[in-house]
Amino acid sequence: FFIALEGGDGSGKTTQVETLAEWIRAKGHEVVVTKEPGATPVGKRLRSILLDVSSAGLSHRSEALLYAADRAEHVDTVIRPALERGAIVISDRYIDSSVAYQGAGRDLSPTEIARISRWATAGLVPHLTVLLDITPQAARERFTEAPDRLESEPAEFHDKVRAGFLTLAAADPARYLVVDGAQEPEAVTTAVRHRLDQVLPL
Ligand code: C5P
Ligand code: MG
Repeated sequence: FFIALEGGDGSGKTTQVETLAEWIRAKGHEVVVTKEPGATPVGKRLRSILLDVSSAGLSHRSEALLYAADRAEHVDTVIRPALERGAIVISDRYIDSSVAYQGAGRDLSPTEIARISRWATAGLVPHLTVLLDITPQAARERFTEAPDRLESEPAEFHDKVRAGFLTLAAADPARYLVVDGAQEPEAVTTAVRHRLDQVLPL
């Protein structure tokens, strides 16, 4: 069973991934917690290229392909093997981050980004995608020192990313759970657990 957590910078994904993993483990399942970009040795090198300040001027198509390469390696060497042995995989970001950031956030077509991602993953789609939805402004207010990305891109970029995620969620409500990421972390966890109780093979 494959769960992806998605949302903008500062939406609380990393915290929720850990809490949910503990909860599912306590039920006796093997849980593999992973993330994008940078879950594999090659992925770590791609992540450092993608997030280095010197990559600020990287062509948008090149950036999209590097994220797709990171994901291809991630799926082939981490996610699929774990799913094949029956583990529950929780990934901090997946395809929808690319569609939202490189598609909606940049000037590239979200449909084309979805197409490259489908190819890169050989069609592996999560059973459940949880979107932690938060306004970029509320996300920024959470931090005394905002994550680099919230600072390095203009507000409109983050607004487009957020809208991109919401469009994806609206198009596929059966796969998506949208949670208000501005709530207390405990309230977010409760909402996600409620949905998982209905869909997890427990
Ligand atoms: O989630 P995490 O903080 O590890 O992501 C690192 C950075 O990569 C984030 O600031 C996010 O904005 C960026 N990112 C991106 N496109 C993706 C995935 C992540 O721009 N497809
Ligand atoms: Mg995070």
